[in-house]
Amino acid sequence: MAHEKLIEDAQAIAGELVTLRRAIHAEPELGLHTPKTRDKVRTALAHLPLEWTEGASTTGVVAVLKGGAGEGRSVLLRGDMDALPMPEETGLDFASCNEGVMHACGHDAHTAMLAGAAELLARRAETLKGEVRFMFQPGEEGHHGARYMIEDGLLGGKDGLSLPDAAFALHVFPNAPHGVFGGRPGSLLAAADQFRITITGKGGHASLPHETMDPIPIACEIVSALQAMVTRKFSVFDPVVLTVARIEAGTTFNVVPDKAEIEGTMRSLSSENRARLREQVQRIAAGVAGAHELTADIEIVEGFPVTVCDEQAVSLGERVAGEIFGEGAFLRLDDPIMGAEDFAYVLEKVPGAMFFLGVSHEGEDWTQCCGIHSTRMMIDESVMPRGVAMLAGVAEAFLARGFD
Ligand SMILES: [Zn+2]
Ligand SMILES: [Zn+2]
Repeated sequence: MAHEKLIEDAQAIAGELVTLRRAIHAEPELGLHTPKTRDKVRTALAHLPLEWTEGASTTGVVAVLKGGAGEGRSVLLRGDMDALPMPEETGLDFASCNEGVMHACGHDAHTAMLAGAAELLARRAETLKGEVRFMFQPGEEGHHGARYMIEDGLLGGKDGLSLPDAAFALHVFPNAPHGVFGGRPGSLLAAADQFRITITGKGGHASLPHETMDPIPIACEIVSALQAMVTRKFSVFDPVVLTVARIEAGTTFNVVPDKAEIEGTMRSLSSENRARLREQVQRIAAGVAGAHELTADIEIVEGFPVTVCDEQAVSLGERVAGEIFGEGAFLRLDDPIMGAEDFAYVLEKVPGAMFFLGVSHEGEDWTQCCGIHSTRMMIDESVMPRGVAMLAGVAEAFLARGFD
C-alpha cells in the first residue's frame, strides 16, 4: 500500500489545519476577490517549493508542485475559498468578524484541507512523477470562479500549458456520517439556472377587471403550467426540478397592478434537459400570457452546468479511500443531489471527480445536524486530516498509475 503513512502525516498537522481553517472562518470573504484568504494560504505554504500563478479576473491561484521523479502526468486538486452573504449564529469563539458574511458551506475547511494536501505531497515530492496543481478558487457561490480561472488560462489549455490529466475536489457535509466519503459516477450535482418572468398587462380599479388586463391570474396560470410541464414533458428517468420561489404583484386590495413577476430556479441532470427546460419555460410563459392578450418577458440567468464525475476517477477515489481508511470509508451514492457546484466547469474540461465528506461530530445523529448554508452550520474539525489524506492519496495514486 503506497498511502499507508498519509493519514499519520495528516494527523500530525491537524493543529495547523485547525489554525488555518479558523483564521479563514473568522475573516470570511465573498465573491471573486478573496485576497485575505489567498494571503493566508500563501503564508501557510510559503516554506514549500510551489510555483504560484494568479489570473486577471479573480484572486484565484494555482500552485504547482513538481515531482522529483521526472516528467509524468499532471493532477489538479481544487479547494474553494469564498463564503456566503448571511449572518453566523454558531456562537463559536472563532465565528465570523465580518457581519453578514459566513463560511456556511465549508469552503474554509476545503481551503485548509487543500493546503494540508500540498504540505503532505511536498514532503513526498521526490517520489512523485509528474506534477500536482493546487487550485485555490474564489467565487464558487454563484460567481463562476472556476470558469473565470479557466478563461484566464490558469488550468492550462492556453499558452503552451496543457490541461491537467485529472482533477479532484472535496465538499464537506455536516449532515452525513462522520468521516465517510461519498461519490458516484455520472451526474453528481445538477445544472442550475434561474428564471424571471415579467407579465405585463394594464392596471386599473379592482371592481372593473374587464377594463384592465390583470396579470395576477395569468401569473398563477403560468406557475401551474410550469409544474404540469415538468411532469408531462420530461422523462422521470432524467429528472428535472423547477421551483417558483417568488411571486410579486400589486400594492393593495382594490388595485389591479400593471405587472406581475415570477422568479425561480430550474435544475437538470443533463445538458439536453437543461436546454429544453429553458425553451419550455420561455414557450409556456409567452404562450399562456399571449392566450390572454398579455405579454411575458423571460429572463434566464445562467448558473452552473451539471457536475459529471468520471467513472474511473470515482473508482480511483473509492480504491484510495479503502486503502487509507479501510472498508466502509467510501459510499457510492444512489442518486445525484439537485444542488449545483462550479467545479462542474473543471470537470467539463478534465476527467475527474468530486467527493463528499461527512463532517458531523462523532457519535452525533447526523440526520439532525444543520446542513450547509445554515446560519448554525458547524463541522467536526477532527475529520479534516481524513480529507487531507484523501486528496493527497488520489493525487499520489493518479501520478503513479493513472486511472488504473
Ligand atoms: Zn454553498
Ligand atoms: Zn460549497
